[in-house]
Amino acid sequence: MREDGRKFRVMAAKKQVRTDRTLHVVFPEESFRNMTASFDDDEKRGREGYAVAICGQKAGADKRSVTYMARSIDIPGKGDLISQSSVSVTPSGDFMESVLAAAARRQGIVLEIHTHPGSADPVFSSVDIDHGLDNGRFLRSCHTRFCMMVIGAEGFSVMEYNGESDSLQLPRAAAISLMGRQGLRQILPAAETLCDGPSPEAVDRQVRIWGARCQRRIEATIAGIVGLGGTGAALLQMLALIGVKKFVLCDPDDIEPSNLSRLPYACATDAGKKKTRAAAGYLRKTARDVEVETVNDRVQDAKEALRACDVLFGCVDNDGARLSMNEVALKYFIPYIDTGTEIFVENGKVRDMGGQVRIVVPSVTGCLECAGAIDRTEAAASLVSGEEHAVREAAGYVRGTADTPAPAVITLNTIIASMAAQEFVDMIACRDRENAPNYLLYDATRPQIERFLFERSPDCPMCGRDGILGAGDPKRHGRPGVKKIRSPG
Ligand SMILES: [Zn+2]
Ligand SMILES: [Zn+2]
Repeated sequence: MREDGRKFRVMAAKKQVRTDRTLHVVFPEESFRNMTASFDDDEKRGREGYAVAICGQKAGADKRSVTYMARSIDIPGKGDLISQSSVSVTPSGDFMESVLAAAARRQGIVLEIHTHPGSADPVFSSVDIDHGLDNGRFLRSCHTRFCMMVIGAEGFSVMEYNGESDSLQLPRAAAISLMGRQGLRQILPAAETLCDGPSPEAVDRQVRIWGARCQRRIEATIAGIVGLGGTGAALLQMLALIGVKKFVLCDPDDIEPSNLSRLPYACATDAGKKKTRAAAGYLRKTARDVEVETVNDRVQDAKEALRACDVLFGCVDNDGARLSMNEVALKYFIPYIDTGTEIFVENGKVRDMGGQVRIVVPSVTGCLECAGAIDRTEAAASLVSGEEHAVREAAGYVRGTADTPAPAVITLNTIIASMAAQEFVDMIACRDRENAPNYLLYDATRPQIERFLFERSPDCPMCGRDGILGAGDPKRHGRPGVKKIRSPG
């Protein structure tokens, strides 16, 4: 008997390998709720539930952590299952064929999900493991990666197939989060009850508004700020003061003397310095334990740093940068708060003055493209190289040039930055987020704030059904012989 037991363990060890990876699976909340509603139905009938998600992935900075983002979830309907009992479920060939074709087309990872009736915190059976190995091998022959999950109301298990070792890998730790209007929220394992103990005196007054738990969530957030002009500067200052500790700051520009009236993080001696450097210096003075990563590049060249953020703030003045931020947000499931200000002065009179805050929650709200907020011609013009930009500027194609700078004032910047910071806090605190308007338009001439809702369009080329939502990192082994070449400088 002992001998047999030992043999079995050796065999099991070959099929299943423990790794030091951590795995995070993110589902759009609505699709996840649809899936679990169908599982609940199966549970009532005492049979296994079944679904397949196609995922994109985001590799962590340390390579030991990975996030899978569910781009779509296929739940078999009537006629899509050959058999379904309390111990097994078999989808039809047609159903699997259509799912696998979609996975191949989107270069996605196949995540097979099932339930064990009567088990709220299930683990894989030996039959699951054998099937998982077969599926992993088969999908590998189709150049598609495979992982599997068994889920209950209180817990789940997940494994990834590794083709090189022909084994199923068990992560060291795994979590499931949902992307909803209130941002990303972990549901399994149920987040430990964060202690509601006393907060530092410096934040005591605001904790009286939103509570210690919300304060901890603010402190754990990695905030990406793109653009450190007037609005970005005011936002940076506010976020630091309310307790954000981790920042990714992105701006290629130096501080010019004409910027100083709108940059609370800079003083007169900072003229000529990189904006990111002065801003990072300010943050380090504001809080001792702050972590700042700076990127002196345009947003289109800073995607690597931005994809690690929990929330993105766009404080840019052109639609090319907005297009790039919209893309990063959608691909990596990161809530994105876009800001903008505009002042039109004609013959010495203010004709129009105001700004807007737009909130993009991937898979939940519309994106900037759905909102019709991106001027493609302007975007294309602003995405050109620095050299070409200078030529266009000289020819008068660029608004707000060195010769005729656009008007700007910190009062307007600060109003818009406050609106954006408040949206962030409300999101973290889950305050009235269902169907909350995601377009706030401030008219400074009246003054008043109008609120709109822009919804996701299924036909949107960015976040629609054939878009890039949750696409994640590009597949590593690209076309052979094609190498990405960076132009010098
Ligand atoms: Zn099972
Ligand atoms: Zn869209």
